[in-house]
This record gives sequence, C-alpha cells and structure tokens, in this order.
Amino acid sequence: MANILQDFINNLKPNGDLAGLKSAFSFIAERANIGKVVILNNDNTDVIFDNSNSKDTNPYTLTKDNISIEIFQDRRGSQFEDLEGIKALAMISLSYVLSLHIYSAYEKAPYISFVSGGLPNSFGFNNIITSRFNKEELIKNYSIFAINVRGFSEINRLYRVETGNLAIRLVAEQLKQIIHDDEILCHRGADDFVMLVKSERVDTLIKQINPIHINLKKNPQDDDLFLSLYLSIVVVPIDEDFSDWNDYISDAAVAMSYAKANRIPLVRLDKKLKADIETAKHIELMIDDEIKNKTIITYYQPKVDIRTGKIIGAEALARWQKDGNIIPPDVFIPILERTGDIAKLDLFMLKNACQDFSQYRDLGNETVPLSVNISQKDLLTPGFYHEIVKIIKKYKMNYHDIIIEITETTSLEEKARMKEFIDYLRDHHIKTSLDDFGTGYSSLSLLRDLMVNEIKIDRTFIGSVPLRRKDKTILKSIIVMATKLHLDVICEGVETLEQLEYLKSIGCYRVQGFYFDKPLPKKEFEKKLTKRFYDREIYKKN
Ligand code: C2E
Ligand code: CA
Ligand code: CA
Repeated sequence: MANILQDFINNLKPNGDLAGLKSAFSFIAERANIGKVVILNNDNTDVIFDNSNSKDTNPYTLTKDNISIEIFQDRRGSQFEDLEGIKALAMISLSYVLSLHIYSAYEKAPYISFVSGGLPNSFGFNNIITSRFNKEELIKNYSIFAINVRGFSEINRLYRVETGNLAIRLVAEQLKQIIHDDEILCHRGADDFVMLVKSERVDTLIKQINPIHINLKKNPQDDDLFLSLYLSIVVVPIDEDFSDWNDYISDAAVAMSYAKANRIPLVRLDKKLKADIETAKHIELMIDDEIKNKTIITYYQPKVDIRTGKIIGAEALARWQKDGNIIPPDVFIPILERTGDIAKLDLFMLKNACQDFSQYRDLGNETVPLSVNISQKDLLTPGFYHEIVKIIKKYKMNYHDIIIEITETTSLEEKARMKEFIDYLRDHHIKTSLDDFGTGYSSLSLLRDLMVNEIKIDRTFIGSVPLRRKDKTILKSIIVMATKLHLDVICEGVETLEQLEYLKSIGCYRVQGFYFDKPLPKKEFEKKLTKRFYDREIYKKN
C-alpha cells in the first residue's frame, strides 16, 4: 500500500500540469483497480480518469464543500483484496488530486472550457494557433470553421441547464472525433464552437457534421433521449489579408448572426459577403444619424388594376443612399431586425410616406391607398402600435387608406402578437396585408386566425417562366379562397404580359411588378400618379 502511494507521489509533476496529474493518477488508479474517477462541482462534470473498463454503478463518493468525487471500480473490482484499504488510498490520493486539480484548474482556467470537457476556449485556441502554426501555413492550407447549434436555447428551456451542459459535452465529443491531429477544435462558449481545419476538408466536414445525434440520457437506468442537433456553419478561408486570426473569429461571429437572422444553414464568408457585413456594421452604428440626415429615402412602387391600368395604390420601400450608391433593403433590414433598430426605420418610413402623400394631397391632388412594410420584430418595441396611429393622425391621413404589410410567421408566440397587433389596427380602421403570402409554413392557419384585409401573393408563385402547372393551380385556389373570404388579393412580382394575362384569366386584377414599374423615387412616382393610368396593350385587348 505504502508503495503505491509513494509511486503516485513520485509520478506527480508538481507543476499544476493537468496532463501530468492525469498520468500520475492513471498510474495509481490502474494498480488500485479503479475504473473511473469523476469530479463534479456545481456546473461541471469532469472525468479525470477513465480506463473504459469501468463498472458504471455504485461509485464510492466523497464530497467536500460543493465538490464531489465519484470513484468507480473497474470490472475486475471483485478482485479487490483490500477494498477498505483501496478506498483509503483513493481518499488520500484524491485529496492530492483535488488540491492539484483545483490549483491546475485555476491556472488553466483562462484557456479551457470546462463545460465542453476540457476543450480549449478562445484564449487557448489563440495560444495553440500562434505557437503551432506559421502565417504562410495558415494562409495556404487552413479555414476557420465556426459552428453554432441551432435552437440550443430550446434544450436549456425544455430540459434545464445541466442537460444543456451535457449536450454541449456530447457535441464536443463528436466534434473531437472528426477533427484531425493537425486541426484544432475550440469551444467559444455556450453553443458556439470554432475549428481550424484544413481547407481541403471543408466540404467533407460539412457533409459529415449535420446533424449531430446525441443521447441525453444521464444515467444508465434512464430512458434514451435522442436528439438530432442541426448546426449553422460559417466557413472563412484564411486569405492573404490575414494579419490577426482574431479578426477571423470576429468575422465568423458576425457572419453567424447574419446566417441566423436569415435562417441560412451554411455561410461561406467571401469578399463580397465581407463587404456587405461591413456595410451592415456601419448601418448598425449609424441608423439614427442616417435617419436624421435623410440618407434613408422612400421609393414607391405603384399597384395597378389590370382591367383599367389605373394606379390603385403604392407600396413604400426603403432605400439607403450611400456614397452615391443605392443600397437595397435586403442588405440592411435583416441587420436592423437583429439589433432591434428596425422599428425606428419602419416608423421613419411610415412618417416619411405619410408626409409625402399628405403634401401631394394638400396641393389639391387625389391620392391612393398607401402600403408600408413593418417587421415582426417591431411588435416587440413598446409603444409601437400607438406610434403608428399617432403618425397617421398627425398627417391627417384617412385611416382606411393605410395598409400595413406584415410577413407571415412560423412561431406561435409571434402569431399571438401579430393577432393582437392586427386587431388593434382594425379597431382603428387601419388595414393590414399578409405579405409574401404562401411562403410560410402555416399560411392557411394564419388566414383563419388573423383578420387581415388583404393577402399579397408572394412573387415566387408567378415567377416561373413559363408558369408551372402546380403554381397555376395554387394561384387559382388562392384567388377563389380569398374571394370567398372577402379578402383583397394582390399579386406581386409581375414582370411579363404572359403573367398578366394569366392572372386576369383567373380573376386576380390587382398587381404590382416591374411590368408596370420598379419602385420609383418620389418625384417620378408623383408624375405617374398624376397621370393615374398606364397605357399598355393588355387592357386594350378586351
Ligand atoms: P417586399 O415587401 O416583398 O417588397 C417587394 C419587393 O419586390 C421590392 O424589393 C420590390 O422592388 C420587388 N419587386 C417588385 N416588383 C418586382 C418584380 O416584378 N420582379 C422582381 N423580381 N421584384 C419585384 P425591395 O424594395 O428590394 O424590398 C425587398 C424587401 O425588403 C421587401 O420585400 C421588404 O420585405 C423589405 N423592406 C423594404 N422596405 C422596407 C421597410 O421600410 N421596412 C421593412 N420592415 N421592410 C422593408
Ligand atoms: Ca411588402
Ligand atoms: Ca412581398
């Protein structure tokens, strides 16, 4: 007995090196027929020794303060000759282990993520890269491969945080399996992992990695709890602009938010996307100034009745004027939705459009109904509903001449908010339109539950040339249904005469699209509005 202990002590490298500690511990554990040793503290489970021959039941448990140590025998456990002695030995050894483990943990803590079971964290990752690789090698051969577990907060919500931590560890274990020796895996925190991988392996990894299957069962006697976790992936090739790899990690993080905001499972961060993200970062910082300086401007796209060619409405669409270029909303809207600034833009757009329309009206002209877009995210902004009414009132607009366009949603929570919002507008006689209709998962159930005035059929339905049979059938059914439900229907994205004629033949008379006009700057739009009618062959053909 005394010899074993002496061996253990001799094997310790008293420099706080976890690896040294582990090897010393393995040394004694093997002699003492110990199968597995687990250290548990508040939020962590750390397996410090596992000879993969352990009996996973009836551990000998030692608890001190809020740290427990569980010692499992190995399958040869029955051969223990002096079990009590072994336990005593384990206790003595473990007091070393414990003090050293804690000491070592403190020393290593800045570099290790414990939740993941000991992967390097960002600092550790940084250290390993700078000590192991040179710049040329990185540029030539490597890519940053960032991973985020989609919907991870749901796991924490449904199964509590410990299970969430277990999921992280299981994901870490699987990622460890696919990573090669000349690559690095890091746990950045929460559900974010970053790997440095060989660029040539990127495509294989993408195929291999999604989804990750884990079993969240905690104890052998529990039921299986299989989950398939889908990952969002960002790939950033390290290129000749490389100076500090930290830049890459932060680019990857921004690209990840972009991927999440736009629900894209895989983003390859190339130069073009980088430039867009720069733009986005800029607008995120500048939004208040941009609104103040009026570099965000309003374009108007006419809505037309194809039986007469008459302009029957217009949609206000945001444009950003920057350094002489016009930046389309697809670039900045998702970013503003993410930062929560979108309501500022939407209220600004409504105000601007009401101002334009009321000025036009005050000159003695007849206006048309005005459609403006709002984002689901706006509904989270306190006071948003009232602001809408306030603006409309301020410009003395007719309430029923305002149509608020809102896109479909998939989440129940959002649907409940949407209903409240639509009912509120309805009480104020303000109209609503379900935008991009037919692209969501639950268009029909939304129609049943929400009292909208209009549906705006998404442009993908009319977009195929020639029109596909299936799309035609769907279009036709939507028109029939909408008519029966006394809803207005408008079809967007109409570009050709063929599309127009088809829409006319099925009784869809209200359209918006490049066939008539693209979104126009205010002055040009006003000219069209004054003229009021389009002169096109379709309505001459009756
Ligand atoms: P949306 O609400 O579906 O707006 C219609 C988009 O389709 C506009 O793009 C318009 O230019 C485009 N479009 C119209 N006719 C045609 C056509 O015949 N063919 C094709 N291919 N496209 C056509 P835009 O202006 O780039 O806006 C894109 C999206 O950005 C809008 O889609 C809307 O979701 C969002 N957006 C624009 N302005 C605002 C705003 O002020 N607030 C919010 N929340 N979102 C906005
Ligand atoms: Ca719209
Ligand atoms: Ca639309």
